Amino acid sequence: MSAASSAPAASAPATVLVTGATGYIAGWLVKYLLDAGHNVHATVRNPARATHLQKLADGSKGTLTLFKADLLTPGSFDEAMQGCSVVMHTASPFVLDGFTDAYEALVRPAVEGTRNVLEAVQRTESVKRVVLTSSAASVHGDNKEILHKAGGRFDESDWNTTSSVDHNPYQYSKVAAEREAWKMQKGQSRWDLVTINPVMVYGPSLTPASHSASIDTLVQMGDGRLRTGVPDLSFGVVDVREVARAHVLAAFTPAASGRYILYNKTLSMLKIAGILRTRFGGRYPFPRMQIPKFMVWLVGPLMGPVTRDFITRNVGYTVQFDNRHSQELGIRYRPVEETFGEHFQQILDDGLVKKRG
Ligand code: NAP
Repeated sequence: MSAASSAPAASAPATVLVTGATGYIAGWLVKYLLDAGHNVHATVRNPARATHLQKLADGSKGTLTLFKADLLTPGSFDEAMQGCSVVMHTASPFVLDGFTDAYEALVRPAVEGTRNVLEAVQRTESVKRVVLTSSAASVHGDNKEILHKAGGRFDESDWNTTSSVDHNPYQYSKVAAEREAWKMQKGQSRWDLVTINPVMVYGPSLTPASHSASIDTLVQMGDGRLRTGVPDLSFGVVDVREVARAHVLAAFTPAASGRYILYNKTLSMLKIAGILRTRFGGRYPFPRMQIPKFMVWLVGPLMGPVTRDFITRNVGYTVQFDNRHSQELGIRYRPVEETFGEHFQQILDDGLVKKRG
């Protein structure tokens, strides 16, 4: 069943729920909504970590109201959703290490959390559109799968069918959550669903407190942990500001529908290091070498949270994505040099990597 309703007009102030508002991507999303004069209902787990959002609201045309909510608490989002026409569901753990039980750490909050938020949508008559922050991880599993893709680029018709709790659990958490969302949407006709499926997101963060893996990988590039070299690992990259804009456009463009891959370019880890070196000179120990795949396969699992299966199926394969649907939505991609330069500068300013010389 398709939804009979359409998105609220962009010109009139709307009341919008943003889940996980203390997150890296959500920070920009809240900023753009406030700047456009919308009333933002922001759910957070810990209001003490939301002071940056309050500052954004103080200098904007919009209003901000904070609500406490947890993905795993049934009914947690009902109060915050009252009066909202749009729900933007961004909250979901994006961590690649530091846990022992992948189901509890990633899959349960992603899937049960999405169900919990959408059950609240079912109970809230005012909601007309849901924008879900999904991921390119919901589009494909391992990089090697590109070899079977006609045209050599993943697009919105692709689904990740290879990840599981044991192999790529984060990717699995995202595809399972997105499938659940589409299933619930198709069971009714009051609200419609648009998903935003970004590749790896970079660019300055409005909060130093996020645990997003996006920030951690760049910190490791700058603090010397990757000094000895990086694997030949490539991935799609996109600026956080384009991802946030896409959420806003998806919410307020009546014709927006389906899935939107957010993708600018494919870069290897070494190429990213090169961009940073060009901008910041030799003061920081950005990696200069690629480690051969067999070495990564041998020692990688001893040094971090990667498995030999992951290395076999990802290192040395270059993925690309079709971003035409996002361009039709109105997204224009900025140069990657700007994304990485501004992101690393902000990491220095926040003291996440010590400034040198
Ligand atoms: P982030 O900064 O870690 O944001 C994740 C948010 O989820 C945080 O606000 C976190 O709350 C919240 N959250 C986690 N578990 C929760 C729970 N049990 N109850 C309530 N809230 C919970 O990461 P991000 O990069 O901005 O990610 C935001 C979304 O974008 C996620 O859905 C992620 O899968 C998706 N995404 C990210 C990327 C990327 O490269 N960054 C790419 C594609 C898709 P706390 O602040 O309280 O921890």
